[in-house]
Amino acid sequence: MELITERSRIKSVAQRWDAVYGPDFRPLVGGSSKEISVTLHALNLNKVSANTVNKIIGNDTWTVLMCSECNAKVKKVVVFYGPYDYHAHQICESCATKVKTMFKTGVAK
Ligand SMILES: [Zn+2]
Repeated sequence: MELITERSRIKSVAQRWDAVYGPDFRPLVGGSSKEISVTLHALNLNKVSANTVNKIIGNDTWTVLMCSECNAKVKKVVVFYGPYDYHAHQICESCATKVKTMFKTGVAK
């Protein structure tokens, strides 16, 4: 398992973008994936807001973190990797606290 934050998503966004769209940078609906790559690489990824990144890309899927348990949009999650990365499950701090409480005081079915 590992901690992922909105900032860590932002810091890796240009690299992840290139991994998906590069090195050929095929055209996108309403824009160029190469232009977006250049714009993302020019940002100070240690400081830029998620909103700015979202506007450049056109959606929030590259920065948003959602809890798999409560479906809330959150700033950080812990990700649990199953045998396959694409089955990763991520939970927010609030749900993690509930897990801890269940272990301590919960009654099994
Ligand atoms: Zn949650």
